[in-house]
Order: sequence, then structure tokens, then C-alpha cells
Amino acid sequence: MRLLFPFAAWIALAGCGSKESVTARFALEPIGMPESELAAISAILAEFNQRLGSNIASLCTENCNGVIEFVSPREDGVVGLCEPSTYVRSKSHFSMKKGWIRQRKSELRADIKISSDLRNRGNQEFLRTIIFHELGHGLLLDHSSNEHDVMFAVVNGEKNFDMYFEQVRWKLQEISK
Ligand SMILES: [Zn+2]
Repeated sequence: MRLLFPFAAWIALAGCGSKESVTARFALEPIGMPESELAAISAILAEFNQRLGSNIASLCTENCNGVIEFVSPREDGVVGLCEPSTYVRSKSHFSMKKGWIRQRKSELRADIKISSDLRNRGNQEFLRTIIFHELGHGLLLDHSSNEHDVMFAVVNGEKNFDMYFEQVRWKLQEISK
């Protein structure tokens, strides 16, 4: 049984009675990865973006806001971990009609860590499921109780990727309202 790390952090996205916009951008700096791994992960992120029709996750070398790296296997069997965070920028501008308006721009970010057990196992499908799962947490999706859901806490058997992308699209619309 392979557990994925439960999502514990709750990120407040509530506005402060002013204009608010939330975007998700995962510009991930790969740490200590050889070319072959970079290519595999890059392909997984490209598929994620392509299925969403939006460029949300990418590997990057500059202006990164998160990392993706393989870490030592954990004793509890957790194979993937996402540390989501929100970067908030506020600025104020003056409007003749409304006076001072405070504008808040929030950006969802994530650091993704994967057990080095999965390195070069030639199991692209498994790695893909884990990266999608962790990106889901980066977008503030919680665990699902449906075992065919990519957001189920355990990676076992067939996953329904159509259902996953539907959820992610819905979540993206919800946060960017
Ligand atoms: Zn999880």
C-alpha cells in the first residue's frame, strides 16, 4: 500500500472587502535530476497543461516559485508530498467613484517532493498519477474517498483521469472567480 501525504494545510483565500484575484502558477525548479528524468517530468507537466488548456505547471530555470525533487523514501510509505503556499501581493489605487480600492493578487504555489523509490523505475504511469495528485493538492484539492479518483490517498489500480481533470477545471474556475 502506498500512501500519499494527507493534505493538512488550509489556505485562506478570503478577500478583505476589496478586489481579489487568484491564479495558480507552478514554476517548478527541478532539483538534482538527470536529463532522462527531466524529460519524463516535463512530458507529464505538458500533458497536465494540455488537458486543462492552460499553462499552469512547468519546469523552470529562472523565476521559479517552487521545486520538484526526489527525496529519500519515508518509513511511513508516503511516496508523494505537496507543500502548497499562497503568495499575496496587495496594492491600492484611487478611483474617483469608489475612493481607495485595495487590490489583492494571490498566486497559488507548490513544492513537490517524490520518493526516490520511484526514480528510474520505468513506471511512467505511476509517476504521472503521483505528480497529478500532488498538483491537485497545489490547487487546494483534498483527498477523495473514491479509489478510482487520482485524489484518492492511495495509488492502487486504475485511475479515472477524465474525472480528475473535470475536478481540476472546476477548482480553477472556483478559485479564479
Ligand atoms: Zn494526497
